[in-house]
Amino acid sequence: MKSSNAAPAYRSRSGWNALLPHRIAREQVPKDRRFRTIIVGAGYTGLAAARRLAELVPGEEVLLLDASSIGEGASGRNSGFLLVNPGEPSANAAGFTEDWAARQIALVQAGLDWLRQLVATHAIDCNWQETVPAITAAATSLGETSARATRDRYEAWNIASRDYRSDELRRILGTDYYRYGIQSLTRALVQPAALHRGLADSLPDGVVLIENTIVNAFSGDAPVRVQTSRGEFVADRLFITNNLHARSLGIVRNRMIGIYTYGAFTPELDETQLNLLGEEPEWGALPAHRMGTTMRKTMGRLLIRSGDSYESELDPAEVRAMLARLYRNRFPKMKSHEFEHVWGGLTAVTHNGAFYFGRVRPGIFASVGCGGAGVTRGTIHGRLLAELACGSQSRLLSDRLALSGPNWLPPEPFRRLGATAQIAWEQVLAGAER
Ligand SMILES: Cc1cc2nc3c(=O)[nH]c(=O)nc-3n(C[C@H](O)[C@H](O)[C@H](O)COP(=O)(O)OP(=O)(O)OC[C@H]3O[C@@H](n4cnc5c(N)ncnc54)[C@H](O)[C@@H]3O)c2cc1C
Repeated sequence: MKSSNAAPAYRSRSGWNALLPHRIAREQVPKDRRFRTIIVGAGYTGLAAARRLAELVPGEEVLLLDASSIGEGASGRNSGFLLVNPGEPSANAAGFTEDWAARQIALVQAGLDWLRQLVATHAIDCNWQETVPAITAAATSLGETSARATRDRYEAWNIASRDYRSDELRRILGTDYYRYGIQSLTRALVQPAALHRGLADSLPDGVVLIENTIVNAFSGDAPVRVQTSRGEFVADRLFITNNLHARSLGIVRNRMIGIYTYGAFTPELDETQLNLLGEEPEWGALPAHRMGTTMRKTMGRLLIRSGDSYESELDPAEVRAMLARLYRNRFPKMKSHEFEHVWGGLTAVTHNGAFYFGRVRPGIFASVGCGGAGVTRGTIHGRLLAELACGSQSRLLSDRLALSGPNWLPPEPFRRLGATAQIAWEQVLAGAER
């Protein structure tokens, strides 16, 4: 097992990034070490914050630092579903009303719309697709009950959805593993590492990105002194957008846990094998239980994502065997259940699903706590964080500010005991959704 400390250090490359041509990381350190703003973490959140700052303040000097190379962090390791899921509609300061689901969907939708626009403007080649079937598929009666309840919720929120019978799922997905499905809130499917690279490589002038640079600590507020693996930098303000690893900078230490989940790609499949994965050339399937298995048929391969482990990355051989078993269960007729790439990825999980977002103290801003649906949600949070720091006002920003923050979590060893017990219990409940 390998643990997460100041910055992520994964055991294997992102399979998505490995499929792309070689890219040279930006590591040039500028002579002048003084910036107006420093941003820690160039995932979707940090990239969005940097871009928005440069848009809002012409001439703004922004230094964006990332411990990994672009495409290798969680932003390039995910499954590429761009969802407009509202998260927890109850997570607002005023308590639950149906109106809050619509407001939270509007937030995430704004992230999606911005990404769509950036992909078009900068011709980012990331296999952006909006018409591919993306289904929440249930394999068990419990999963079906949950999917039907989700569909009722969508209806209450005025979101059109459709359901899929088992024979329709068999035709689309090529397996009779699933008994019921609903159209998910996925609005686009992408190659996530290609999107992440495209966004990083199209940052506005004025943003200096330095990859493979770990921020170890900071002190002061205005100016802020930032200690990194490439020496000290100074800024008037600091944005913390490195998600779970904000904890090692002393931010939101007792409100997030790290959960690893795992992805794998088959080798490129021939036509006969691809036909066994259903009639559609591409599809996405999300699980009906949060501990379940995600799959995609994409770019002539099958992607599978599953498994959860607390704060430590499992041994790759163990992960490979687990994912091969889940793949075989669904597609027993495939010639082989070998994978070309297997990788782990770290997400931040909060007890109530809420983010930490806002001004920590004068000169220090943070948006962290991004779990699932982080491509769209991280993007809009990064953008709104920049707007908050610049004093902009909007309905989206005030809605975002009205959301609750993450709940407090007990210290170790109680935290580990509670989290591992919950993971084990939910895995039992998930049953064949895994
Ligand atoms: C296997 C997997 C599948 C997923 N599937 C989906 C999906 O289909 N759709 C979806 O929307 N979301 C999905 N997610 C979640 C999504 O990837 C995250 O929510 C998203 O990446 C969060 O973006 P972020 O910018 O907030 O954080 P991150 O992407 O984690 O970016 C934070 C960055 O900070 C850097 N960093 C950390 N510490 C330091 C430091 N000390 N100094 C400098 N830099 C630092 C990291 O290298 C990283 O690049 C998935 C995640 C995983 C792991």
